[in-house]
Amino acid sequence: MKIETQCLHEGYTPKNGEPRVVPIVQSTTYTFDSTEHIAKLFDMPMEYMYSRFANPTVDAVERKIAALEGGVGAMCTSSGQAASLLSILNLCNAGDSFISCSTIYGGTVNLFAVTLKKLGIECIFIDSDSSEEEIQKAFKPNTKAVFGETLANPALKVLDIEKMAKIAHKNNVPLIIDNTFPTPILCRPFEFGADIIVHSTTKYMDGHAVQGGGVIVDSGNFDWTCGKFPEFTEPDESYHGVVYTREFGNMAYIIKARMQLMRDFGCYPAANSAFLLNLGLETLPVRMKQYCINAKEVAEYLEKSDKIESVVYPALQNSDQKALADKYLPDGCSGVITFTIKGGRETAVKFMDSLKLASNVVHVADIRTCVLHPASATHRQLTDEQLVAAGINPGLIRFSVGLENVEDIIEDIKQALEKV
Ligand SMILES: *Cc1c(COP(=O)(O)O)cnc(C)c1O
Repeated sequence: MKIETQCLHEGYTPKNGEPRVVPIVQSTTYTFDSTEHIAKLFDMPMEYMYSRFANPTVDAVERKIAALEGGVGAMCTSSGQAASLLSILNLCNAGDSFISCSTIYGGTVNLFAVTLKKLGIECIFIDSDSSEEEIQKAFKPNTKAVFGETLANPALKVLDIEKMAKIAHKNNVPLIIDNTFPTPILCRPFEFGADIIVHSTTKYMDGHAVQGGGVIVDSGNFDWTCGKFPEFTEPDESYHGVVYTREFGNMAYIIKARMQLMRDFGCYPAANSAFLLNLGLETLPVRMKQYCINAKEVAEYLEKSDKIESVVYPALQNSDQKALADKYLPDGCSGVITFTIKGGRETAVKFMDSLKLASNVVHVADIRTCVLHPASATHRQLTDEQLVAAGINPGLIRFSVGLENVEDIIEDIKQALEKV
C-alpha cells in the first residue's frame, strides 16, 4: 500500500459484520476464564490485560503509525514529552549519558538538561552542524544514544539524518529522531538510517487540536546485542527472567519499553484520544500537502516585505538549508514558518496582537493558522545562551500556517504589518 492508502487502511481490518470504523473500546479491563491465564499474563503480557499499557483502540493506531514510518512496532503515550522521556529511559540508566542536538523543542531541552539530570542521566548537547570529528569528541564510554529533530521546532533547521546515523552507529548506539513536524508524509527517517522515531501526535498527526499524545516507533534495525545494552540481552527479573532480544528479536526495544516503562510510568493514552488521533491520521496526506503549499506562499510573501528582517522556511529558494530540505523533505517543509520582524521583541508582540484570523495560542501545526512568540512562551525557561543555541532570536515569531484560503492568511498578515 502507498502511504495515502495506509493512512486509511492500516491497523484495523474489520471481519465480517464488524464495525467499519475502529471502535472505541472504553474498558479498562478484560476478562479471562482462569486464574492461570492471568498468571501467565504477568509473566508475559502479550494480550490486553489492563488499560495502563494496552488497549485495542490505541493498538490499532499504534499499528497504523508503525506502518506509516516503516517500523516493526509502535507504542503510543499520553504526550509527546512522555514519548521523548521513555525513548531515552529505555536505553539510559543513572550514570549513563546521551548526545542531543541543541536545536530541538524547548520542552525537550528542559526534560533533557534539567529533569533527566536529576535522575543521574547526562545529556551532552552538540551543534549538529559540527564536523563528524567534532561530534565524535562528545561521545563517552557511557553514551547510549543520539537524539535530534528532523525539522527543529522552532528553529526549522533540517537535520542531516544520514550523517547523524553514521556517527551514532560508529559508536554502537541508536539514533532517535523526533519527526513531529514532517510526519511520515514528508519524511521517513528510518529510510535514512534512524533507529527509533518519536512524535508529538498532538501536532499535525492529530491536526485538529483535539487530543494530546505521543508515540515511539521502532525500526527493528538496531543490533541490541552489540554489547552496550545488557538490559536487552540479560534476564529481566521483573518478568521472571525474560531476555528481550531472545524472546522478541527485532521488536526488543518497543516491547521492553511497554513491559518495563509503560508498566511502571503508566503514561498510556485513553482509547478516546486514540480514536480522535486516528481520524486525524486518515486525512494526514491531503492536509500535509496543502500546509506545504500554503506555507510556501506565505513565506514568499513575508520575504518580500520591508518590515521583515528574515524568514526561515527551508523550502525557500535562497534558504541556506535548501539542499538538506531537497534531500530530506522533497515534498515540502510543513506549515511552520519562523520570521523576525524589524524592531525586535516589542514589534513582534505588537504584530501578533494585531492579527485577527491567526490565533495567539500555545500550539503549533494545527488546522487553523496560529502564532506564538517562543521567547515568551515555549522557550521561556531557556537562558539567552540556550535560546541562541536553539536557534531562537528574542524577536522571532513562529507562524503555523493553517488550511484557510491562503489569500485570507496573507490578508491578515498584511493588515497586522500595517499596524507596526
Ligand atoms: C510539541 C512537541 C513536543 C512535545 O509534545 P507534547 O505532545 O506537547 O508533549 C515534542 N517535540 C516536538 C518537536 C514538539 O513540537
